Parts: sequence; C-alpha cells; structure tokens
Amino acid sequence: MGAHALLSPSAAHRWIRCPPSACLEREFPSSSSEAAAEGTAAHALCEHKLRKFLKLRSKRPHSDFEDDEMDRCSDAYVSFVQEQMGDIPSPMVLVEQWLDLTRYVPEAFGTADCIIVGGDMLHVIDFKYGMGVLVEAEHNPQMMLYALGALHLLDGIYDIQTISMSIFQPRRENVCTWSLTKEDLLRWARDDLVEKARLAYAGEGAFCAGEWCTFCRAAVRCRARSEEKLRLAREEFRLPPLITDEEIEEVLSEIPDLIKWANAILVYATDAAVNHGKAWKGFKVVEGRSVRKYKDEDAVAREAKAAGYTDIFDKKLIPLTQMEKLMGKEMFAKTLGGLIEKPLGKPALVPLSDKRPAIHTDNVRSEFKTIMEEN
Ligand code: SF4
Repeated sequence: MGAHALLSPSAAHRWIRCPPSACLEREFPSSSSEAAAEGTAAHALCEHKLRKFLKLRSKRPHSDFEDDEMDRCSDAYVSFVQEQMGDIPSPMVLVEQWLDLTRYVPEAFGTADCIIVGGDMLHVIDFKYGMGVLVEAEHNPQMMLYALGALHLLDGIYDIQTISMSIFQPRRENVCTWSLTKEDLLRWARDDLVEKARLAYAGEGAFCAGEWCTFCRAAVRCRARSEEKLRLAREEFRLPPLITDEEIEEVLSEIPDLIKWANAILVYATDAAVNHGKAWKGFKVVEGRSVRKYKDEDAVAREAKAAGYTDIFDKKLIPLTQMEKLMGKEMFAKTLGGLIEKPLGKPALVPLSDKRPAIHTDNVRSEFKTIMEEN
C-alpha cells in the first residue's frame, strides 16, 4: 500500500461526484502550500495536547507556525473532545487512529484525529485549522469514510448502533455534529460509495463540474469544467431581458467561481508563455505598465536642494490602522475617537449565506445610481 493512495478520504467529496477526476489529477503535480504546513503543525499540537489530557506519553512538537491562536485553538479542541466523552458511557478514545478503508474503496486508508467509542455509540472528530472553506459535518464523505473505517475496526468489540461525526473548525467558529444509524451509514456505502469508488479507481464514469472542482489539480485544464464555465459565461453576457430572473440568480451564484476560474486560466497561460516559451495563437507577451520612480531618494533630495528647490517634501498623516497600532486601541479611542468616521460602504449584492446584515436599499439607491453613472 503506497503512502499516497489514489482515492483519499479528504478528496472523496470530489471523486464521488466526479469519479474520473482522481485519475486525471495524477497528470498534474501536487503542490504543498504554507496553509497545509500550518494545518499539519496545528494537528500535531492538538494530538500532543489530547494525548497529555488522556495521560498518554507525548513529546511536545515545535514549529515556526505556533502562536497564541494555535495554542488557543488546540486547547479548545481538547475541551471539545472532553465534552463529547461525557456523552458516551465508559468512553475509550483513540488518537490519530489509522483506518483501513479497503473494504469499500480500493487501496484507501485514512487517519482520524479522534475516535470516541463506548456502549453503542461511536463518535469521530475531525479538527480543521483552515479558514478558507467552511466544512460541514452533515453528509461529509470524508467523515463517513472515517466512520466506516472505525466501524470496521471496532464493531466486533462494541455493539455500535449510532454514529456521530463532528467537525471542529475553531478559526471559522464552526463546530457541527451530524449523527446517523449504523444501517444508514452502511446503506450509503453499499448503494453509493462502492460503485463511485470502483469507477474512480478505474478512471471511468462521467466528468461532472461543480464547487468541488476548486481544489482539483486538473481544474485549469479540465474540459468539463471549461465547458461549464463557458456555458455560464455565455449566459452572463446575454442581454438580461432575454433571460429569466431565475437564470440571473443562477449566474450570480456562479460569478465568484467563474472569476476564480478565469484568473487561474490567465495565470496558467501567462506562466506558460513567459517561463516556458509557449506561444498562444492571437496573444503576445508585452511589458506590463510601470511608473517612473526615484532610484535613490537621498540623492534626489540632495540634488534638488542644491539646485535651489526647498519645497520638495510631502508631509502627511500615517494611515489610520498604523496610528491605532502606534497608540494602542485604548489611547487611540480616547484621543482620536471623536475624529474618526466610517462612511457607508458601497452597496454589494452577496449570497444570503454572507454574515453581514441586509441593508434597506431605499437609503442607498441614489448613491448607487451615482456609482453606476460614474462607471
Ligand atoms: S476540474 Fe472538476 S470536472 Fe474537471 S476533473 Fe476536476 S473535479 Fe472533475
């Protein structure tokens, strides 16, 4: 069994929806990111603190990423596990448990951050340090795969009936738990997972683009995704009177992803042209816009003064956030609080899931009209 199985639980939400993506991704190198390294460091700290809490041997890990926030989040994770243990009779806790998933998914394995088992209950907990994507526990295939692995490991010892899965994502203030029966989990594995895993392993099945494409390594070159985006782009550029409100709503919800996809294509094509000599038909590489600047400010000041010019310096206040940092929040509020104002932001159309409260459009209509006219 290799260290990198083709079908990983963390990518299951993608290969379940788009089975051939797993094989297609192999054509593209995997890249490691700073965020991933930070996540690994946070997991190591969580594991250490949980082991200590359980009175197991552990050596404190050290990393350059460790800071107050990571310390707080890992403490909160341990408290959360402790709370969940209270709901399970005579709980046994497994930390960073390796799980064999091959009964359902070829060559697959995974490591669960924490498993609590006792009586007829099984609880799988996953710590997420990322801030980008809000992770839901409900119908989360990664968690369901871990639950299947844990069930395979423990069902002979315990008579498990109820399975809970929790995502603990402190930097998004997201803690969510979803429960289901053992029968329902096994039914999902039998009726859905096994066939999707078979197709994915064989590189078969239909390509299907959706929000799960975001972290797919094939995303920039993928034809299915490209066709989907171009279809949406065509809709977007049709005159509004020709499409219905429902179609506009569909396009609106796709715009952020559409822009991300278009930017990714531009970055890819630019890199290929500039760094690898690729010639794109109808395009050329030019020098970007740039502005003139002083080579040496001291020398400029010296020469300008020598030539008799004295009014050459521009004195202005440091930016507001820098001033607040300089004074500290309390002193800043005391000294300058009355001199700070916060103008109304430009009205923006965002999905209902956005945390900001809705505003009354009557109050901003005339301002928005001015903005539209200016543009
Ligand atoms: S980009 Fe999307 S559609 Fe294309 S292979 Fe990846 S997941 Fe499938």
